[in-house]
Amino acid sequence: MLIDNYKAVRKNIDEACARADRSPEDVTLIAVSKTKPEENIEELYHAGVRDFGENYIQELRQKYDDLPKDIRWHMIGHLQRNKVKYIAEYVTMIHAVDTYELAQTIEKEAVKHNRRIPILIEVNVAEEDTKFGVSCQEAPKLVKRIAESLPHVLVSGLMTSAPFVQDPEDNRPVFRKLRQLSVDINNENTDNENVDMKTLSMGMTNDYIVAVEEGATLVRVGTAIFGARDYSHRQ
Ligand SMILES: *Cc1c(COP(=O)(O)O)cnc(C)c1O
Repeated sequence: MLIDNYKAVRKNIDEACARADRSPEDVTLIAVSKTKPEENIEELYHAGVRDFGENYIQELRQKYDDLPKDIRWHMIGHLQRNKVKYIAEYVTMIHAVDTYELAQTIEKEAVKHNRRIPILIEVNVAEEDTKFGVSCQEAPKLVKRIAESLPHVLVSGLMTSAPFVQDPEDNRPVFRKLRQLSVDINNENTDNENVDMKTLSMGMTNDYIVAVEEGATLVRVGTAIFGARDYSHRQ
């Protein structure tokens, strides 16, 4: 049963919190349901799970239409500007913003729906060529620029996808660096009401335990809950 997987992950998170002297309530587990059928989501929903993460707009739109409206949908994948309009009305948080232009589009769509949309800045901490995200040097400038000019966008923190490594310990410095960056940005923006750096979205199946030890407040776990993904049916 999926809920047993979910609970096992949750237990690991709670134990990591204890080791790091953190409160378990400060860490939200997002069940990453991309490519997985709606029945899987319903099964967890009925056991009380509300936070789900998706990467593909069409899939997210379909699941949103079909499933209970109190689900908190996190858009965790790379987002094209022309797709923002399909999720702006209901998305809980957009995790991977790495350009001012994307934030501008989010602002425009947020205004249309008369809401403020929480976003995270995606940081490519390890500077991998294959990944999206701004550098640690660029992140503070991007936060500032967004916060000064886009009032319907709430900069809620930082997000990263750490490198794929055999030993999750190897990602500890990456998580530590993102946390420090978040603290620094928060200190620079204490009187800016469009910045609230409370969220640190880091850690996936392979490395979420280390991420929690290093301060993650949102972990995005797919495989450990739903099993391996099958992409062969995607167009
Ligand atoms: C797919 C995905 C995840 C979940 O990855 P798992 O290794 O299956 O836990 C987390 N974050 C992002 C951005 C993803 O695209």
